[in-house]
Amino acid sequence: MQPFDVNNITVEAVSLPILAQKNVELAILRLDKVHNIISGNKWYKLRYYIEDALQLQKKQVLTFGGAWSNHIVATAAVCKLNGLTAIGIIRGEEPANYSSTLLQAKELGMQLHFISRQDYANKLISSGINLHEVYSIDEGGFGIKGVAGAATILNTITKNNYTHICCAAGTGTMAAGITNALEHGQQAIAFSVLKGNNSLGQTIQSLLINPKATVDINHSYHFGGYAKKQPLLIDFMNDFYKQTGIPTDFVYTGKCFYGIMESVQNNKFPPNAKILAIHSGGLQGNRSLIKGTLIF
Ligand SMILES: *Cc1c(COP(=O)(O)O)cnc(C)c1O
Repeated sequence: MQPFDVNNITVEAVSLPILAQKNVELAILRLDKVHNIISGNKWYKLRYYIEDALQLQKKQVLTFGGAWSNHIVATAAVCKLNGLTAIGIIRGEEPANYSSTLLQAKELGMQLHFISRQDYANKLISSGINLHEVYSIDEGGFGIKGVAGAATILNTITKNNYTHICCAAGTGTMAAGITNALEHGQQAIAFSVLKGNNSLGQTIQSLLINPKATVDINHSYHFGGYAKKQPLLIDFMNDFYKQTGIPTDFVYTGKCFYGIMESVQNNKFPPNAKILAIHSGGLQGNRSLIKGTLIF
C-alpha cells in the first residue's frame, strides 16, 4: 500500500462566472488526493488515536461504522500501515453480498463483526472481543484526539489567504478542529449532512479550545438526510465536475459544495471573500450509486 503523503494535497482555484460576478474567490483543498484508500479527512482524524494506541502498545484497534463508511475503510488501511489489527463493528446484519467498502476493509485485514442496528445503537459489542486489549475509537473518529488531528488539516497551506473555511459536517469533529486552527477574523462554516441534527452546534462548541470562537452551521443542504440524495444534487455534482474537473461524493462534499455555491448566489458571502472549501474525500462512497449516475 502506498504510504500516506501530504505532498499529494493541492489547493485548486476555481473559476466560475458566478464567483467573478459576486466578486468572491473560491479554492478547493484537495484532501481527497492524499492517499488512494485513506481519502480526505480520515487520516487527520485518526492520526493521534493511532499514535496513542501505539504508545500504549495496543495490538488491536476497534471502531464502528456502516456498510459504506469512509471511516471503516480508512481505519482498516491506517491500521495495516501501522502494524495494528483492526476490528470493525458494522451496523446491521451481515449482508449476503458485501459492499465494496466492506470488501476492501476485509482485504486490508480488518475483522468485521456485524451487529443489529439496535445493538449498534446501544454499543453492545459481540462476545469474543476482549475490550481491555483493544484500543477503541468512536464512530467517525469523534472525540478530542480526532479534533486535534483535524486541526492539522490547515498546516499544509497558507491559511491566512482565506476569510472563510467551509467543510461538511457529520459528527462535527473536522469542523471543530478547523475552527480551533483559525486565526482571529477567519470564519468557519460547517454544512451539516444530517437532517435536523440540532445538537451539532452544541457538540462542536463543546470541542472548541477557545469557547468564544464561533462556527456557522448550515442545516439547509442535507438533501433529505444522511446518505440521501436528490436529482438536484447529482446534477450539481456532474455540472461541477464538468466545469472544474473536481469530483465530489454525494454524502459529504457534494452537499457542502452545493451549499457553498448557492450561498455565493444568494450573497451570503461578503464581496472580496476568499473561501476555502475542504474536499474531505469520501469518493469511494460513490460506488454505492447505480453505474452511470455520475459522469466521473
Ligand atoms: C467523515 C467525513 C466527513 C465528516 O467529518 P466529521 O468530522 O464527522 O464531521 C466529511 N467528509 C467526508 C468525505 C467524510 O468521509
